[in-house]
Amino acid sequence: MFPAAFAYHRPRTLPAALALLQRHGADARLLAGGQSLLPMMKLRLLEPAHLIDIGRIRRLRRIRAADGGLRLGALATHWMIESSPAVRRAAPALAEAARAIGDLQVRNVGTIGGSLAHADPAADYPAALLALDARIGLLGPDGARVVPAAEFFRGVMATALGPREILVEVEVPAATGTTGQAYLKMPNPASGFALAGAAAVVRLDNRGRCEHVRVGVTGVAAAPYRARGVEDALAGHEPGDARLAEAAARAADGVAPNEDLHAGGAYRLHLARVLVRRALAAAVARAVAPRHGVRRAAGP
Ligand code: FAD
Repeated sequence: MFPAAFAYHRPRTLPAALALLQRHGADARLLAGGQSLLPMMKLRLLEPAHLIDIGRIRRLRRIRAADGGLRLGALATHWMIESSPAVRRAAPALAEAARAIGDLQVRNVGTIGGSLAHADPAADYPAALLALDARIGLLGPDGARVVPAAEFFRGVMATALGPREILVEVEVPAATGTTGQAYLKMPNPASGFALAGAAAVVRLDNRGRCEHVRVGVTGVAAAPYRARGVEDALAGHEPGDARLAEAAARAADGVAPNEDLHAGGAYRLHLARVLVRRALAAAVARAVAPRHGVRRAAGP
């Protein structure tokens, strides 16, 4: 199918893109990798009169290591993220989420900013960004603001991003101490999107007890969420197998599951518990015995 007619704009700077967005408002859409927007336009689910292609704004297409953490421009592609040594070192769960997306063609052009703005409930990044305590940088007519990942995702394709704002950057804070992290997903066998996905970040104290646990879950509910019951159940405890299983059993507490032709709600809740247990176990194993691509970060 062909999309409806639109005017095409290709600004080369962020201020120019922002100005176009203010001028055309609700009639405009930003175009990044086009991997979600163009299919929606071809299906006539969206018919923007103006397409603002931000793909030439070079400052948005970079990944920087910063104070042990990361700053990822909105146009960093999934492939850039999965293959970046800085990301693999500082945030291996994020590299794993990027690698789990679609196929190589999609990963070569799709961007982290586009994925977060699109907010598909089955997207991979949100679980990792929740577990990593990431922050999302937005730029709008009233200036810049930063939104924690935990407050960014609001529902199916609904986020804290305003219609006249541009998502410019994702900040991932430095991991400290003896930390391990992992992202795992159960892909839909047809589309590859996550029926469920779970990310875990675990930091152990010098006696081997959990002093910091973050768990993010995607694909299961209308919006990705932090499994706080799991985090609370592990805090201060040694992460033995029994304790991890007991904590992971709380991964779907109070969650209203998605239900569609791809998977029933009960199955998605089950997947959440299983994937959280496995992601926690992988994170703990990596904290204890770091391997290639996973780091034992320097002490605080
Ligand atoms: P676009 O399609 O260009 O834009 C998407 C939306 O975000 C639009 O509304 C656009 O206006 C808005 N937008 C884009 N950039 C910005 C910005 N900087 N600020 C504000 N708004 C912005 N995703 C997964 O997570 N897991 C998968 O397994 C997966 N499999 C896929 C398989 C296929 C075959 C395809 C086609 C896609 C798949 N995707 C998957 C989606 C993929 O990750 C897309 O790349 C992503 O959802 C959108 O990124 P994009 O850069 O292509 O954005």
